[in-house]
Amino acid sequence: MRPFVCVLAGLLLSLAGDSGRCLAQDPLVLKGAQVLDENGASFREGVMVALSDGRIAAITEGSAEGTTLELEGLHLIPGLIDLHTHLVLYPYDQRSWDDQVMRESVELRTIRGVIGARKTLLSGFTTIRELGTEGAGFADTALRDAVNLGLISGPRILAATRAIVATGCYGPSGFAPRWDLPKGAQVADGVDGVRKAVREQVAAGADWIKVYADYRRVRGGPSTPTFSQEELTAIVDEARSAGRPVASHAATDEAIRRSVMAGVKTIEHGYGASEESLRLMKQHGVVLCPTLAASEAIARYTGWSPGEPDSIRIKTARELMKRALRSGVTIACGSDAGVFAHGTNAKEIELMVEYGMTPEQALEAATRTAAAVLSLENEVGKIRAGFKADLVAVEGDPLQDISALRRVKVVIQGGRIVVDRRNEDR
Ligand SMILES: [Zn+2]
Repeated sequence: MRPFVCVLAGLLLSLAGDSGRCLAQDPLVLKGAQVLDENGASFREGVMVALSDGRIAAITEGSAEGTTLELEGLHLIPGLIDLHTHLVLYPYDQRSWDDQVMRESVELRTIRGVIGARKTLLSGFTTIRELGTEGAGFADTALRDAVNLGLISGPRILAATRAIVATGCYGPSGFAPRWDLPKGAQVADGVDGVRKAVREQVAAGADWIKVYADYRRVRGGPSTPTFSQEELTAIVDEARSAGRPVASHAATDEAIRRSVMAGVKTIEHGYGASEESLRLMKQHGVVLCPTLAASEAIARYTGWSPGEPDSIRIKTARELMKRALRSGVTIACGSDAGVFAHGTNAKEIELMVEYGMTPEQALEAATRTAAAVLSLENEVGKIRAGFKADLVAVEGDPLQDISALRRVKVVIQGGRIVVDRRNEDR
């Protein structure tokens, strides 16, 4: 254990750079920015945002006392939220998922998570939902706790820990049957088995439960539903007893239907959702996280390049968005970062616009909608007095050009400036 702690401590010291510059002035007054309205539809000019005690104290046209941070020419938006990340994973074109999961120690992967958390925060994402450590145990709860203790710099993390899969329904796979390999998630079967898994994960610190309602049975095979209706219902019921919501990985129509009937809160991916299932989701208030950026990344890793005709994966994602928008189901930002680089999570929001949302809708999906999914709608996701002072100043108007989200100049988390790039070259 000791060598790990030393390495981690050294890493933290070496990372102290930027955050060492953090100002701790309180109250802090943000001046000169165009400020996103509570309803997210327009920016207000000529207002100051006063921050105190980690919260937004006031948005005022008058004067405000405190240290001034000049944001002239920038647009101020709420801290962004990504509902689907894997901090311990990194892009599969750098190393395959199998090799990351099977060849890297949990300690190394956790250190990667520390770096990923920092990159995520500095790109303007101040809250994330970590949807599974992919074989790295409870690394996400450690990352969450380290952020909360102020040991490392990262977004607020809601952790799902190991995720739950059925026997024979997750990777690593494709090896001779005589090898009994541990999986990248917790294997559980039957109503009693899945209830026990939920109990174990909650006791280990899970804020959310993630279940794989479908997956490939064999390497290269199609996804098929995994858990029965009874098992899924038991998972949601057990999680509910513990006050934990459930996110369901479901790409097939049947797994989506079973998940909705079981009472999950979000569907992850959802590519195969029929109009009927989307209607059912809407009716039950189930939110869709379409993970468009992951589809795009995997398309790139398998030979497609931007500008070429849509690959099958991209076509599927585009069509899902079209159906989903038509159905009126609630869509939230969940990117599956880890499959692609941490710190580029905004790609999801850009693709939402490319595939049919207005910039206003896409920004809402990554702020107010995502906050509501996390039951944090009275804390984050809006620039409103009393809310957490999680704020991002970007260059350009994201309601006109969503790529402004890539030009993050200042990130404020809980009233503290965590990055200030106002003087860096444009
Ligand atoms: Zn994922």
